[in-house]
Amino acid sequence: MPQIHFLDVTNRDGVQTARTGLSKFGKTMVNFYLGRLGAAQSEIGFPFLFHEVPYVRAQLALAEAGAFGGLRLSGWCRGVAGDVEKAAEVRAGGVGLAHYNLSISTSDYMIANKFRGRLDRDAIVREMVAAVRTAKAAGALTVGVNAEDGSRTDDGFLTEFALAAKEAGADRVRYCDTIGGDTPERVRERFARLASAVGMPVETHCHNDLGLAVANSVSGALGDLEAGQDAWINTCVNGIGERSGNADLLSTILAFRHGFGLEKHGAEIGDPIDLSWARRFALWASYAFGQPLPYNQVGVGRNAFAHESGIHADGALKDHGNYELYDEETLGPFPDDWHARPGRVVLTGEYGGKAGFRHVMDGLGIDPVDEDLAFKLVQLCNAQTGRPLTDDELRLIGGHPRELALLFPGQLD
Ligand SMILES: [Zn+2]
Repeated sequence: MPQIHFLDVTNRDGVQTARTGLSKFGKTMVNFYLGRLGAAQSEIGFPFLFHEVPYVRAQLALAEAGAFGGLRLSGWCRGVAGDVEKAAEVRAGGVGLAHYNLSISTSDYMIANKFRGRLDRDAIVREMVAAVRTAKAAGALTVGVNAEDGSRTDDGFLTEFALAAKEAGADRVRYCDTIGGDTPERVRERFARLASAVGMPVETHCHNDLGLAVANSVSGALGDLEAGQDAWINTCVNGIGERSGNADLLSTILAFRHGFGLEKHGAEIGDPIDLSWARRFALWASYAFGQPLPYNQVGVGRNAFAHESGIHADGALKDHGNYELYDEETLGPFPDDWHARPGRVVLTGEYGGKAGFRHVMDGLGIDPVDEDLAFKLVQLCNAQTGRPLTDDELRLIGGHPRELALLFPGQLD
């Protein structure tokens, strides 16, 4: 039976968003949480960019050491061979990225108004095919090709583009609703048509300019399933992403778990999802991005399980199922971080010393693999984040200092 997979793009689309930033250590934490949550794949960033290289090496080493569970790491490149060649040179211990998504615009609108005569349809296919072949020749296990502005690209060219990609060795095509104008019924029909015409999964990449990103992602996935293909859904934590955001990771998972009527489509999640990390991840992300969660954020907002008005409160007191779709306990505990304790507290961080470091690590029951290195990493990571380190951050530092040291080439030698 075809299955649903989650491919999170927080570390690419999320962090490239205006007025939004995350340190490289913060991006590492996103991969850590995605691994705990059980997502299939993390698009970890831009491996051809000079300032991402140490971070990509650290992620490869952390994955190799088991820090991210079964999470696949993938790189995003423009659909040009040169980007892929640079990306393939980034290695840690002889291991490089095994998964890629390669992106190029496919709509007539962007051909006319972005490429402005530089590329036509034939040239787009040629560039993309060369990029896919380069990735496969470099040993990539899976390659997805991204049709940027796919929602404004006609069926005929989308099919031609996807078939050429498949012929070159691609495994999936990403249909990007880049400007967020699609609607659920249209997405479902287009996905079903394209997935059956090309015989490979069509990935959803939905933006939220109409507030429809999650609905479109669910519908696109159903189109894949109808065509007998697996569905791959792009998400971001807390729904961040360009402009009004991408499909929210937690909402999309919850939709497939609890949405009425989806079971009749045989919508089975193929990833080992563990929502007991959902609150820790969402609240950490809100803290790390410096972007408060709306009160009504799905599952994790302050009001997601709050009842006050007379009829609702009475009903919820009798049986919370009267006014709740799913049980809050499935979303795991809220973070209860050492640095957030009220009253007298001794912390560790950028300018801390050994006494404070040992006090906090002992208090959290963390026995660092390499104490001296972990101590320096607490200082360096905190200097990057500019915010008190959380318990999960300290645990990752304590457990994997040697791999995290790759984030800071030249500073720990
Ligand atoms: Zn996007």
